[in-house]
Amino acid sequence: MITTRFAPSPTWYLHIWSLRTVLYNYLVAKKESGKFMLRIEDTDRSRFVEWSVENLIEILKKVGLNPDEWPNNPWKFWPYFQSERLDIYKKYIEELLKKDKAYYCFCSHERLEKLREEQTELWIPTKYDGNCRFLSSEEIEENLKNKIDYTVRLKVPKNKEVIFEDLVKWKIKVMTKDIDDQVLLKTDWFPTYHLAAVVDDHLMEITHIIRWDEWTPSTPKHVLLYEAFGWTPPIFAHIPLLLGTDRKKLSKRTWDVSVESYLEKGYLVEALLNYIALLGWNPKTTEEFFSLEELIEKFELKQVHKSGAIFDIEKLNFFNSHYLKKSDTEELYKKFSDYLKKYDLEFFNKIEKFGEIYNKKIFHEMKTKIKKFDEYKENTNFLYEEESELKIDLLVNPKMKIPDLEIAKKGLEISLEILKNRENKDFESIWEMKDVFIEEIKKTEMKNGQILWPTRVALSSKQFSIWALELIFILWLKKSIEKIEKYLKNI
Ligand code: GLU
Repeated sequence: MITTRFAPSPTWYLHIWSLRTVLYNYLVAKKESGKFMLRIEDTDRSRFVEWSVENLIEILKKVGLNPDEWPNNPWKFWPYFQSERLDIYKKYIEELLKKDKAYYCFCSHERLEKLREEQTELWIPTKYDGNCRFLSSEEIEENLKNKIDYTVRLKVPKNKEVIFEDLVKWKIKVMTKDIDDQVLLKTDWFPTYHLAAVVDDHLMEITHIIRWDEWTPSTPKHVLLYEAFGWTPPIFAHIPLLLGTDRKKLSKRTWDVSVESYLEKGYLVEALLNYIALLGWNPKTTEEFFSLEELIEKFELKQVHKSGAIFDIEKLNFFNSHYLKKSDTEELYKKFSDYLKKYDLEFFNKIEKFGEIYNKKIFHEMKTKIKKFDEYKENTNFLYEEESELKIDLLVNPKMKIPDLEIAKKGLEISLEILKNRENKDFESIWEMKDVFIEEIKKTEMKNGQILWPTRVALSSKQFSIWALELIFILWLKKSIEKIEKYLKNI
């Protein structure tokens, strides 16, 4: 069975590029009805941040990429926190020592620092010099007896070629002379990432390791570890880095790279996943919009690019607008209400008082105009204010052929007449209203803009807002008439 995993070291919020790693792992597993697992790599205790695990679980739930097993649903590979698996790693370290595939290293921190400095000065790659590689068993015994701090290092074989296949990057070859004798067990007796990841990936029967390209240089060490244990390595796929529009690697810890920040701005999960799936993956069709189900069906690691993918917020906005436009208003409104309850309760409480019918009318018009939910408030606030300040000077607009207030006034009078002629019968739809207005405007000497611009200003008191007819539809006749009359009185 195909089993993939996401194995973060939780030190912060979930990054947007990690969400892509999660997604690719999820898609590969689900496509073959396999399993997607989550494992917390928390062996670097100094960097571990506890709340980040909760945040991660919450986000995975929100975006619908839940792992198949997690503490609530433990399977045979429990526990999933590496810090709770220390005994397991100890056993495997001992096995490597016994097989002479690893060795004790008693070098002090100072010695290693000095070595690094010397190598840096000579412009040679910084690497352990193998000082403890050939200690006699007596020397080792003695040092252990004297309780000298030690690490355990991988005994990288000499003059060997390490080769592995990568589904994205194809064949990778590295000579062992270029591989460091990697520390496997640290002085605090915690394993390093390399040992723990290899042991767990093996024990958890992971078939595909999908992680980002930064880990490619570590993979030869992992392959050597698999060999040392006599295990078959899984399939590797190193996915490209995400770059900003400046082609530089996305920064690590600015709020803008956290998935949470995108949810806070009101991006829809389906848009986010769809866009992220395409960062580095070429579906080989002109089609760009895919639901999660379609992604599961179509995604192929073989179609993932080798080079970095550009994360372009404008493109994400384009995807989000698409999903906003095509979503059913009722369902989307529910999502929007949940969004407000979480991120702007005050505004939610304020608009709730106006009733669902009114709110949904506004929402229906706005969903085609905003790029994401956080743009809603500033564009609709005026529809929730009882009294708005009159902006008479906005009525004049030479571009709309309204050079003075006289023309604006005329325009408003025509609008008012059209609305009054309805005799309190609200319009059925904006389209019906459009037909009525066009018919009526034709009978006058005036242009559409000369009537609709001042009407829009009178209804919104804003320089920019949704169209006049949409506003009339939202506000209903009575309120629209009141507002226009108020302006007319004050010109
Ligand atoms: N703990 C590593 C990380 O957070 C996992 C790398 C891997 O997937 O093997 O990046």
